[in-house]
Amino acid sequence: MNTTIKRIDPRRPFTITAAGIRRITLGATFDANASNDQSHGGASGGAHAHGQAVKPLRTSQPAQRTVLVAAHSDRGALDEHTRQVLAAAALIADAQTQVALVVFGELKDDAAVLGADRIVELATFDRRRFAPERELQALAACVAQIAPAHILMPDNATGDGDLGRRYAAYAGASIATQVVEIDAARVSSYAQAKQAYASRALPDVVLLAAGAVDPRLPFVGAGERVEIALPAEAIGTAEATGYKDLGIEEIDAAQVALEEADFIVSAGNGVADVAAFEQLAGAFGAAIGASRVAVDNGLFPRDKQIGATGKTVEASVYIAFGISGAVQHLQGIKDCRHVIAVNLDGSAPIVKRANLTIIGDTQATIASLIDEVARARSTRASAGATAATPAATVAEGVAA
Ligand SMILES: Cc1cc2nc3c(=O)[nH]c(=O)nc-3n(C[C@H](O)[C@H](O)[C@H](O)COP(=O)(O)OP(=O)(O)OC[C@H]3O[C@@H](n4cnc5c(N)ncnc54)[C@H](O)[C@@H]3O)c2cc1C
Repeated sequence: MNTTIKRIDPRRPFTITAAGIRRITLGATFDANASNDQSHGGASGGAHAHGQAVKPLRTSQPAQRTVLVAAHSDRGALDEHTRQVLAAAALIADAQTQVALVVFGELKDDAAVLGADRIVELATFDRRRFAPERELQALAACVAQIAPAHILMPDNATGDGDLGRRYAAYAGASIATQVVEIDAARVSSYAQAKQAYASRALPDVVLLAAGAVDPRLPFVGAGERVEIALPAEAIGTAEATGYKDLGIEEIDAAQVALEEADFIVSAGNGVADVAAFEQLAGAFGAAIGASRVAVDNGLFPRDKQIGATGKTVEASVYIAFGISGAVQHLQGIKDCRHVIAVNLDGSAPIVKRANLTIIGDTQATIASLIDEVARARSTRASAGATAATPAATVAEGVAA
């Protein structure tokens, strides 16, 4: 008698239903194209590791038109706002339209996953160096070569909003700023102190406000890297005009307003040794936040509280030590990019939100992270290298 029991392979490819339920189907071969009716073209994107659902290519038809997204990268990454703009471009593009991405600065992110079909990396630029004229010439050169129907950029105060406005003035292009609604035909911005909407047909340059678009796409872009030769005016390090770049002033993380901090370590009820926690924040160069319980217990001042009745933060890295992740706390960290949780309880709500969780004791983890930072610093100092960035240091500490 055959006693073999048929079992579901937990590593088998699966689909995620609209309700967020992971579904593994017995006997069926996974077909990403069949399962996703939002695909225009139907060609399959590359398979992802570990049996994750494969997203289809947005389109496989030849491009007759281009929507261009231009933005600065930040230490090789595209921030949330830029991801939203890329998603907007991919969502308004039809099957014959490609999404091209021009990145000012180094790009290490996989922009195909974010919807880009063509990627131009202008690695000689850096968001931290003020070079408005060179950037304008570089953008104009890219536009001349790509000939896009529209240009979409994040309307931010860190370079892209300024560059978009400069480009529109330079090229005599139509422009809409602080756009909060977009589709293939129209854009809208708030008017009259947010009492009304002003709508118009899609202009040449669209500067999107943050939070207007959900960056999670049901498809991927082709992600082909292309080179564009820049004119002499866009190359070189010195600005030809009379600007003087005074650089970026580094200040102590403790002086940064929590809402502006890029790296935050946050303490909850599971942190007993506040002195060690503050020592770690100093070693990381991170700003300090806290849950309401930690504040109510008198361990931190009220202005450190993060959450619904505290502050809303947007850090690139947020490490939650001994914080359960109550809904009121999660509201305050919804815009954080990488959330790392340290908690004894693997079923705490923060674990669902976190990109990485360390199931362990906060005191022990804090002590080993302090050791790791010291070790990494001394290794680097003896190798004569420059100090690590805070984000890189966290990654090392966590991996160890
Ligand atoms: C109207 C209202 C507004 C609120 N506003 C806010 C707000 O703005 N911000 C906010 O944070 N909260 C707010 N709260 C409170 C919120 O509901 C939670 O009570 C609070 O966030 C819990 O804080 P906590 O996670 O630090 O503590 P707890 O819920 O006690 O969780 C502690 C966590 O630490 C873990 N832990 C314990 N010991 C250790 C250890 N040694 N090592 C590792 N992990 C450990 C536990 O597993 C647990 O997950 C609000 C509540 C209400 C009703």
